[in-house]
Amino acid sequence: MEMGKGTCRQIAIQVSDESLKADLEKYRQMALDMGATEAEIIPAGWVEVDERVLLKCQVPFCMHYGRCANCPPHAPPPDLVRQSFARFKWAVLFKADAANVADLADMARYWPNGQKEQRRSLDIVNEIESQAFADGHYLAVGFSAGSCQDGLCGGHFCQMLDSGRCPFYLRARPSMEAVGIDVCDLINKIGWQIYPIYRRVDPALVPCAISVGVVFIR
Ligand code: SF4
Repeated sequence: MEMGKGTCRQIAIQVSDESLKADLEKYRQMALDMGATEAEIIPAGWVEVDERVLLKCQVPFCMHYGRCANCPPHAPPPDLVRQSFARFKWAVLFKADAANVADLADMARYWPNGQKEQRRSLDIVNEIESQAFADGHYLAVGFSAGSCQDGLCGGHFCQMLDSGRCPFYLRARPSMEAVGIDVCDLINKIGWQIYPIYRRVDPALVPCAISVGVVFIR
C-alpha cells in the first residue's frame, strides 16, 4: 500500500453479520491475490494452542530458540495466547505452496529460496492485519510461518535482542508455531495436506511444501 493512500473506517464495537462477512471474504481474496494457493475463513475456535508445540522448540533446540525476539522463550506465553484467541470468533487461514518443493525441503536451496517463501507469508499476514485494522477491526492480529530471523533478517543476529532496535518492527511477528499453534492439526481440520520437512528428507518424496499464516479478525 502506497504511503498516505490507506482507507479508514469508523471503529465500531458491533458490526453487522453482513459487513463482517464481506470483510472476511475481502481478506480471504487478498491472501489469494498476494500469492496464497488456498485461503479460507475459519472459526477461531479451530485453532488449538498446545504446549507440546512449544516443547518442540527446545527438544531438540531449534536454531532460533532464544536467538530471535519473536521466538520462544521471548514469544507471548501460551496462557496469554490461548485466552486471547478465545475472545475471537473468526480468522482467515491461508497456505502458500512453494513453486519448487526443494526450496523449502532442501537445505542447500533454503537460502534464499525458502527464505522468500517465508517472507511472502509474512507479507500476506501483515497486509491483511493492516487492512482489517483500517476497516475498524482494531484487535486483528496475525501470525505467520517460520522465524522472522529467516524471513526478514536473512538468518543474521537478532538486532531486537542485541540492541532493542528491530529494523522490521512493524513487519516482524511471531510464527504460528512460536505461540504454540498446532499448525498440523489446523491443516488437517481444513482438509489441506502437510508433510514433514526435515534435514535428511529426500525432496523428491515430498508431495508439497507449504507456508501457512492466520489472521484473527473479530
Ligand atoms: S525481524 Fe530480525 S531484528 Fe526483528 S525480531 Fe525478527 S530477527 Fe529480531
